[in-house]
Amino acid sequence: MKLLSTGTDSKTIKGEIFGVLTGILYLAPADESGEMNTCPHASNGCKSACLFTAGYAGIYKTVNEARIRKTLEFVNNRPQFMQDLINDINSLIKKAAKLKMIPVVRLNGTSDIVWESVKINGKNLMETFPKITFYDYTKDFQRMLRYLGGKFPMNYSLTFSRSESNDYKVNTILENGGNVAVVFRGGLPKKYMGKKVIDGDISDLRFNDGKNVVVGLKAKGKARKNDSGFVIDLANKRGFISVKIPMKFTMKKDRKQLTLA
Ligand code: SF4
Repeated sequence: MKLLSTGTDSKTIKGEIFGVLTGILYLAPADESGEMNTCPHASNGCKSACLFTAGYAGIYKTVNEARIRKTLEFVNNRPQFMQDLINDINSLIKKAAKLKMIPVVRLNGTSDIVWESVKINGKNLMETFPKITFYDYTKDFQRMLRYLGGKFPMNYSLTFSRSESNDYKVNTILENGGNVAVVFRGGLPKKYMGKKVIDGDISDLRFNDGKNVVVGLKAKGKARKNDSGFVIDLANKRGFISVKIPMKFTMKKDRKQLTLA
């Protein structure tokens, strides 16, 4: 089964201008497959605004059907799924070499799976392809803390994702040097929670964003009308937090030992 897509979505294709060829895996988000919750940290707001409804997925039924098929394969036939994924990454590497481009992989296109823990022949995909850059967004706070604590494969980059119910986690991540993606409607502010906002729609190359920034994304698909608080509406300041909120967590100074107090 072919698993990775290249050049099929409006977002990752922008990386090609920068000489980067992205292979992206789209699974069925949250519990859409009926077999596995691929986004255990999803909020109600993000589920209702999910990119599962943006782009081609919002138009063609077959796109979502294919994503469900892939998810069922991941759940029910893991060894074959992983072998197919390895084959696809090898094909991506060859294609990129022909085009003189840099291959990168985003595994959680529409999911939030802990890929660093998924192993084949005793190795995760980052260990299997140590020269390839992997990157993802996540709403998994503990996972992000492990990333910031240096307990992550060196070739896997993570950006935390804000929702309507995790502002205190966003604050903690930003205070500890991480990057956070925030969805806005009505333009992008210059700063959010005291940190510089960059335009995350110029490309999807999140591993290239620099340190400790807010990645501003414009609302797309159903998110355009989402009023759960998942989208920050600059017109009426709904959900907007321009200053730091009080810390609810204290962190040990050594990033290698980030723990909740
Ligand atoms: S966590 Fe991401 S992929 Fe999952 S439902 Fe929310 S927006 Fe969609």
